[in-house]
Amino acid sequence: MEQRADAPRDLVLVINSGSSSLKYQLLRAGRAEVLTKGTIERIGEPDGVADHDAAMTAMTDQLADRDLHLDRLGVVAVGHRVVHGGERFSEPTVIDDAVVAAIDELSALAPLHNPPALAGIRAAQRMLPDVPHVAVFDTAFFTGLPEAARTYAVPTELAARHGIRRYGFHGTSHAYVSALAAETVGRPTEELDQIVLHLGNGCSASAIHHGAAVETSMGLTPLQGLVMGTRSGDVDPGLHGFLARTERLDAGAIDTLLNKQSGLKGLAGVNDFRELEQRRATGDAAAALAFAVYVHRIRCYVGAYLVTLGRLDTLVFTAGVGENNAALRAAVADGLDGFGIAVDPARNQAASGDPRVISPDGTAVTVLVVPTDEELAIARQAVALVG
Ligand code: ADP
Repeated sequence: MEQRADAPRDLVLVINSGSSSLKYQLLRAGRAEVLTKGTIERIGEPDGVADHDAAMTAMTDQLADRDLHLDRLGVVAVGHRVVHGGERFSEPTVIDDAVVAAIDELSALAPLHNPPALAGIRAAQRMLPDVPHVAVFDTAFFTGLPEAARTYAVPTELAARHGIRRYGFHGTSHAYVSALAAETVGRPTEELDQIVLHLGNGCSASAIHHGAAVETSMGLTPLQGLVMGTRSGDVDPGLHGFLARTERLDAGAIDTLLNKQSGLKGLAGVNDFRELEQRRATGDAAAALAFAVYVHRIRCYVGAYLVTLGRLDTLVFTAGVGENNAALRAAVADGLDGFGIAVDPARNQAASGDPRVISPDGTAVTVLVVPTDEELAIARQAVALVG
């Protein structure tokens, strides 16, 4: 696997570093070719590796086992997924000491996500000191949200002091998928009004006008919006005070309850959508209600975004649930013919890994399934920046 002199300079190592796991992918950005990928799990746990440095060493060992030697491959950039870029990072950014410090400062807004991302960045920099490291932020696509959409109705001075606003997340996916949807319908994004539904473990919706995000369902944190695997999404903000008083829960316990024990898991006991569907098929009432709540919330957002945009060209489903669950897609589109939204049953059922149209011919809105690929998007942005 030695790099040939005339080989394209597009080999990127993409790292997604969480608190307990480090996911990596080695890919050629130009050809969208994945050379290898893997996950180092149980970081910091007794039966796992000690820390992120040890995880990087484990990754290097796994690569070497596959005859891929990082120091000799000609990696042109390491792309890091960073959840929170705050208001400062609206673009992929080459990581230097100042950027590290800024990501560190943003840990107040993303205490679960930014510190482990930084640990991954530092470990990777030690491992590959001569290669540019690029941070790609989950919030970047949404930094330009219109003021009315991004502002919470809380005291202005308080919001300014702490950077309280709607940030939005999954931006890399929303940007990638909306661009690919435009390509699939053969029109430039600059002409389109789009709604993207990213439905995975985490779920988010976005409204995109001529290529720019104008609304998104996640907010200050990735807890707001749609019902997710273990996250509640929208609740009455009064619930927090209510739980504090009635259950005597502190802020941390309420955070955990709404982030880890709610959503599909809270309603039906399972967070994996496939399992939920198996239970629903056996007539499990809790699973049926969870599905109904999940769909209802999505439809509320679709309705809101139709009005925000004023018109619609594409409605796009992506991520694990959106790409794979035809019943869910049919339920979201059910009865929306009056808005030009419909799903063709045969097209909806056809399994495929490619971007595809699932609406009938001739409808006002084109409904699509577009597989997301955040690693490829990160790799391409890294190459574009350092190339
Ligand atoms: P993440 O947000 O962790 O990237 P994914 O996009 O992989 O998550 O989505 C995970 C969700 O997708 C899970 O709920 C899983 O059950 C669901 N999913 C994955 N494959 C399928 C499938 N073939 N049919 C239905 N649901 C699926």
